[in-house]
Amino acid sequence: MKKIFSLIICLVLVCSFSVIASAAGATASLSGVPSEIKKDATATITVNVSGSPSMSSALVQVTLGNGLELVSGEWKKDGIMKDFTVSNGYGVIAFSGAGTMDGTVFSFVVKGKTVSQTAQNVKVDLTFKSGSSVVGTASTSKTVKVACASHAYGNYANANATNHTRTCSACGAVETKAHTWNSGSVTKPTSCKEAGTKTYTCTASGCGATKTETIAKTNNHNFGAWSVTKKATCTANGTQTRTCSVCSKNETQTIKATGHKFGAWTTTKGASCTEEGQQVRKCTNAGCTHSETKAIQKTAHKFSAPTVTKQPTCTETGLEVGKCTACGKESTNTVAATGHKMGEFVITTEPTCTEAGVKEGTCSVCNAKATEAVEAKGHSYGEAVVTKEPTETETGIKTATCTVCGDKHEEEIPVLTVNDSSSDSSQVGNGSEPQNNDGGDNSMVLWIVIGVVAAAAIVAVIVILAKKKKA
Ligand SMILES: [Zn+2]
Ligand SMILES: [Zn+2]
Ligand SMILES: [Zn+2]
Ligand SMILES: [Zn+2]
Ligand SMILES: [Zn+2]
Ligand SMILES: [Zn+2]
Ligand SMILES: [Zn+2]
Repeated sequence: MKKIFSLIICLVLVCSFSVIASAAGATASLSGVPSEIKKDATATITVNVSGSPSMSSALVQVTLGNGLELVSGEWKKDGIMKDFTVSNGYGVIAFSGAGTMDGTVFSFVVKGKTVSQTAQNVKVDLTFKSGSSVVGTASTSKTVKVACASHAYGNYANANATNHTRTCSACGAVETKAHTWNSGSVTKPTSCKEAGTKTYTCTASGCGATKTETIAKTNNHNFGAWSVTKKATCTANGTQTRTCSVCSKNETQTIKATGHKFGAWTTTKGASCTEEGQQVRKCTNAGCTHSETKAIQKTAHKFSAPTVTKQPTCTETGLEVGKCTACGKESTNTVAATGHKMGEFVITTEPTCTEAGVKEGTCSVCNAKATEAVEAKGHSYGEAVVTKEPTETETGIKTATCTVCGDKHEEEIPVLTVNDSSSDSSQVGNGSEPQNNDGGDNSMVLWIVIGVVAAAAIVAVIVILAKKKKA
């Protein structure tokens, strides 16, 4: 009997051990727990279970810190939640038969109630039961802070080189922001010798953070006056140097060569008609011996009045010689031939009507003779005389005779025309051409003029005789 009893006890122990072992594997976790929840805001938190044992009922206990308020709870699995009350956070789940409850089993809503600098606990305890026996438990917790809906921040404090922070006096929330630098002020002036510094201060109240920046060296030197280190000459450049009184930097500059500065030209040798002269000018700059020379052109010879060394004749040139009064140089020039001096020309052969004559002149100097032609005189014809009368069928001839040489000149008279009037026939002798009719009119006028003149002469003679008689 004792053996059987102890065996049962052993079985029970083994069984209970195995139950405990399986229950030890159940774990729970919370999700949806924020690290911070604002006052009066809510958060829905879910409870997850894994490795749960077979059970017939389970107990849920939600425990919250004082700053939190439980709003509601809801069962997520099979079975019916009984007796879960918000006031104590406790509930019982009854299964119909047996079951497990792995997965999301429960959710509840919490609300921020009281602002606190301390984190509030959110804890869930699960107890798994089979009949009246506890077959396992699981427990999980997290914390959440209840923060102000609107923080009551104090002054800023310098946190690091970049940021400052401020803390809420009610909930301890810390706000981090970058420093807000002012425009800075020069804390060490810069120069050409040393870099300066500029310090910036954060403008946030209470922060007081500062930062400094380097200001690069300037290139604004404080040079003294130039000092000549090598004097420039007429032809060579010089140098000058100046030094910064702050950083001792030296600056060197070239001084340009001055170039020669010549005085006036001085004649050192006068020019003559045979030799060039010379002029010199010297550089007046101190220490320079440079000079320049230039030639003076030869002067012209001064020839005396020339002397004729060979007289010119009527036909040949002569020569004259001049002599320079300075150097004796002779200059020979040609004297032009004088040309003949002809006297009166005398006709040696008279000209005739048709042939030229000759006249001769003699040079009064050299007796050279020159002849010139005398123009022929031309014939001197007398009145033309009709030597053959024209008829109605044949032309006539009228002939003029030269009073000097007897040369005869004949002209044709045209044939007579039948229709001519008697006046026309009377004029035939006066002309061989029809145009001579006009010549007949002219001769009539001439006869009238002669008549008038003769009459006037007779009247004049009579008047003169009458005057003499009276005297
Ligand atoms: Zn706060
Ligand atoms: Zn700051
Ligand atoms: Zn300097
Ligand atoms: Zn010079
Ligand atoms: Zn001369
Ligand atoms: Zn002559
Ligand atoms: Zn003649």
